[in-house]
Amino acid sequence: MQIAETNSYCHYVSKLKANDPHRIYHDNFYGKEVHDDNELFGRLILEINQAGLSWTTILHKQDSIKKAYSNFNIKKVSMYSNDDIESLLSNAGIIRNRLKINAIIFNANKIIKIQKDFGSFYLWLKKLKGKDIEHWVKIFKRNFKFTGPEITKEFLISTAFVEGAHVKSCHCYKY
Ligand SMILES: [Zn+2]
Repeated sequence: MQIAETNSYCHYVSKLKANDPHRIYHDNFYGKEVHDDNELFGRLILEINQAGLSWTTILHKQDSIKKAYSNFNIKKVSMYSNDDIESLLSNAGIIRNRLKINAIIFNANKIIKIQKDFGSFYLWLKKLKGKDIEHWVKIFKRNFKFTGPEITKEFLISTAFVEGAHVKSCHCYKY
């Protein structure tokens, strides 16, 4: 989010109540390192689900999404059957979009391959840390589905593989 400080997510969030989902997300998760593969996968799922929708919608649905996708267990999601897909499509608590669901299952399988080849999804991402965003976008496009430039960028910023989550005046800023 390369925008003026007063226009930033940090600034917007600072005016919200302590229990607002944006405030909780900003203060506790946004731009903080994630080392667990399932958690990283979960963050990617949330970003994919957001495409075309507001982040507010996703934050409100995040618990239902997590529950629906087997607590973001990569292995379980990779083995989803057609029945599981139908069940997701009939779950009103989540984002019901067949393309997104199929992409998430595809990506789970891809991450399992990455885990086999590189030890973990986290280690694979860590190896790429420091690359410019265009490079990341190309790599994500080559490996995953439904990961356009915006989704890739937001996923990487939110999990601290790419800098820029917080403006300098934010209490979470640490670069
Ligand atoms: Zn901030």
